Amino acid sequence: MGSEDSASTNFIKAIIDEDIKNGKNGGRVHTRFPPEPNGYLHIGHAKAICVNFGIAEEYGGLCNLRFDDTNPVKEDVEYVDSIIEDIHWLGFDWGDRLYYSSDYFEQLYDYAVRLIKDGKAYVCDLSPEEIREYRGTLTEPGKDSPYRNRSVEENLDLFERMRNGEFPDGSRVLRAKIDMKSGNLNMRDPAIYRIKHASHHRTGDAWCIYPMYDFTHCLSDSIEGITHSLCSLEFEDHRPLYDWFIDQLDVHHPQQIEFARLNLSYTILSKRKLIQLVDEGYVDGWDDPRMPTLSGLRRRGYTPESIRNFLDRIGVAKRESTVDVALLEYHIREELNRTAQRVMAVLRPLKVIIDNYPEDQVEELEAVNNPEDENAGVRVVPFSRELYIEKTDFLEDPPKKFFRLAPGREVRLKHAYFIKCESVVKDENTGEIIELHCTYDPDSRGGTSPDGRKVKGTLQWVSVPHALNAEVRLYEHLLTKEDPLNLEEGKTFIDYINPNSLEILKDCKLEQSLKSAKPLDRFQFMRHGYFCVDPDTTDEKIIFNRTVSLKDTWAKMQKKGNA
Ligand code: ATP
Ligand code: MG
Repeated sequence: MGSEDSASTNFIKAIIDEDIKNGKNGGRVHTRFPPEPNGYLHIGHAKAICVNFGIAEEYGGLCNLRFDDTNPVKEDVEYVDSIIEDIHWLGFDWGDRLYYSSDYFEQLYDYAVRLIKDGKAYVCDLSPEEIREYRGTLTEPGKDSPYRNRSVEENLDLFERMRNGEFPDGSRVLRAKIDMKSGNLNMRDPAIYRIKHASHHRTGDAWCIYPMYDFTHCLSDSIEGITHSLCSLEFEDHRPLYDWFIDQLDVHHPQQIEFARLNLSYTILSKRKLIQLVDEGYVDGWDDPRMPTLSGLRRRGYTPESIRNFLDRIGVAKRESTVDVALLEYHIREELNRTAQRVMAVLRPLKVIIDNYPEDQVEELEAVNNPEDENAGVRVVPFSRELYIEKTDFLEDPPKKFFRLAPGREVRLKHAYFIKCESVVKDENTGEIIELHCTYDPDSRGGTSPDGRKVKGTLQWVSVPHALNAEVRLYEHLLTKEDPLNLEEGKTFIDYINPNSLEILKDCKLEQSLKSAKPLDRFQFMRHGYFCVDPDTTDEKIIFNRTVSLKDTWAKMQKKGNA
């Protein structure tokens, strides 16, 4: 998938090339994507997916999907299902290699027993608070637990009884016996098993002790014969611990390689915070089109290609940085400019009556579907005496540079005729403009000038008797803060939620051809941007989401040279 040329994954590829040259792992390349099923995938995960599946594909290797499901309380099959759907949607497949860490619970238990037998793990009765206290800090060494020197027999006995459910939650843990004075906090006798009397979405009530993430993750990679464990930078400090487990147990040793996480401006990419947005009702679910989740982006109108192209373009680096969300928008705009049919929609309608147009006449005018695509063909749009135009395309008292409609001024109606505004009808009480009376020039059919006279404005329009009613939803960034990772003291990201992130327009008028549009079909609404049919659309109610406007803020910034 197109990442062959992206120089940016080179630091990972350089390591893999070297491994292949040295015959490591018999030249195999086997990666995996290891989500925790405790939320929906976001575009940051898409980066990890593209890196893991992309590298495997490039080297003719394999990539597993494995759910790292060690925390029964936070996990759910709903998340498992959504993750599977989203990865497939992005265009990747794991064949028959769908795994769960919970499938390895028995094996992991055996590994833990081996560590105990080798004097490398012990059952500790300190309370969670005491364990924290004993751990020390970055500047102070930790203290040994008073239970650290229990005999192997006692540890084996206690660990088995933990498994058998004899002890309450939090009363004991199994800890690795490493070094309480290590400069790396992860190495200060980390917990590897905890007691949790909770049902697991796959193993049910078979277990009341669960392995910790760090223990599970590296050993699951080992069990699956993963050669290169590609993961994000925050796991760098965990690597010594992973190496320790693998070395003590003397099992297959995958090589972990870390890369920088994706951060996006105006965007939160943390499942914990996204869950908060959903649970506290700031958005309308995980697939709200304002969410950076893959399901939200899909509903917003993003294509898998646009997301993959974006990720390809930014590449994979060793250092954290924040990418401008305008670059993501640029990629979908770029694609839809080539592929989306251009149609006419009036979002805030104002009625126009063409006084010199025959009353019952309807003309079928030809409209080009996409001037960027010769093969896109043409369609017909009906034209009649009564039309809708945008309210914002008329001003009674226009400034000089206003090239749209005004009393006595002439404009072109796209694909149709020149019209001139003759008079304005207002509501007697409110003074609000309710309709315009115009005349048309019958010799300007198709919007071409009959005598070389020029008009500056070209407006979209919709014939009143043929119009489809629709609801249109316009979006802005969910956050008003460009860099949500750097908040002011005492503030949380919730303080920066944009109150204008969603605007719902309920009285929009669309051209007739959109009647057959299906959920997730995408269009350019002339002069308004790119839009996508919302999945909640029914025969009674048509709903469109704006994917992006036509304004390319990315290109503009590039031009100014400050991107
Ligand atoms: P979050 O911080 O959103 O909760 P997570 O890392 O806890 O994410 P996991 O389900 O553990 O979520 O993620 C699976 C994989 O996706 C991990 O290997 C992780 O490194 C990677 N990943 C998560 N977020 C990003 C990101 N923003 N950019 C790149 N990779 C990411
Ligand atoms: Mg994680």
